[in-house]
Amino acid sequence: MGQKHEWSKLSTESKVVAAGRPEKKADGELNPPIALNSTFHVGGPIGYARSGNQTWSALEEAIELLEGGKTLIFASGMAAINAILSLLPPAGVIVAAKNGYQGTTTYLKNLHESGKLTVRFVDLTNAEESMAAIDGAQIVHLESPVNPLLDVVDLPKLITYAKAKGCGVSVDNTFATPLNQNPLAMGADIVIHSVTKFLSGHSDILLGSLSTNDLALYNRLEQSRKYGGAIAGPFETWLALRGLRTFAVRMQRSQENAMILAERLSKDSRISRVRYPGLPSDPNHLLAKSFMKGFGAVVSFEPRGSAAQVDLMCDSAKLITNATSLGGVESIWERRRRWDTESHTVPESLIRFSVGIENVDDIWSDIDQAMLLAKIK
Ligand SMILES: *Cc1c(COP(=O)(O)O)cnc(C)c1O
Repeated sequence: MGQKHEWSKLSTESKVVAAGRPEKKADGELNPPIALNSTFHVGGPIGYARSGNQTWSALEEAIELLEGGKTLIFASGMAAINAILSLLPPAGVIVAAKNGYQGTTTYLKNLHESGKLTVRFVDLTNAEESMAAIDGAQIVHLESPVNPLLDVVDLPKLITYAKAKGCGVSVDNTFATPLNQNPLAMGADIVIHSVTKFLSGHSDILLGSLSTNDLALYNRLEQSRKYGGAIAGPFETWLALRGLRTFAVRMQRSQENAMILAERLSKDSRISRVRYPGLPSDPNHLLAKSFMKGFGAVVSFEPRGSAAQVDLMCDSAKLITNATSLGGVESIWERRRRWDTESHTVPESLIRFSVGIENVDDIWSDIDQAMLLAKIK
């Protein structure tokens, strides 16, 4: 019993619901188990739990269907990124964003300073500068939209250029998500997710993933996971799969809210600048529209006020949580420069706002009252 899915005919909304289920059979389980085993009886392909787990396989199958490449999950997004870096030779050359995700940027800076890798930090939104740096590099690590200013990188152009030059390409797709862009279909070698964010969506776990179409590369990354040891916990994996079931509807709702709020903020005289690639007035709008299906759920904006006033504003919200991270059902914001590691090119007053799935008018009222309390004028 149980008809097999024709996956290629299904859309993302259906794939997230149907993927990663156990075999259909009489009294078979609808959901995969939380498989708690450190070891297995002899004779099979797994043998020991650093090499595989039934709950991992279910989540990996689901992400594989979304990104279009064989997938490995890791203990965190950073563990996934570290697995890629572990494949580079000593002092290998990597091109990466100057103002990228601060965890990645800080880690790459440390590796560069200790001589383990040679990192060419560039402004990825400057295609000429990026292409010049790609010449002679082993890998380029792309992110788009780039955190936290939400600049859009010309992914099709840079991926095509890098591949023509024999340079490997990894793309961090955490902000855009597979609902909006598929870097493997554009020719990238590896797609990375911090599954912690939109894919799992409930701010209750950390996990990461890598997906690739290159089987030899997959095998090297799998070895890196097995011996690097940064493996996912089965319970976290199960929660991520549960969260993924609603990923498409959550993302659609969050994006709709983000668009409405970006428009309201951009018309408000108390705000000096709003960045959201979905805004027709955004400098990256046309580029984003040329290859993205939607514009994500993160908005950045600068209230007219001091850092202290903006801190007070973030703290004065009731519905919106003042915290780092993004991609959950709840709206979260923070003043990015409260972090020492944040790039000094990021304006002092900039708020990164991860828009949740709450009622959009309730979110707007909360923003409004927070600005009043902080005397933002
Ligand atoms: C959060 C994040 C990461 C790191 O993921 P963790 O799960 O926190 O280790 C990497 N890239 C981006 C874009 C992120 O937002």
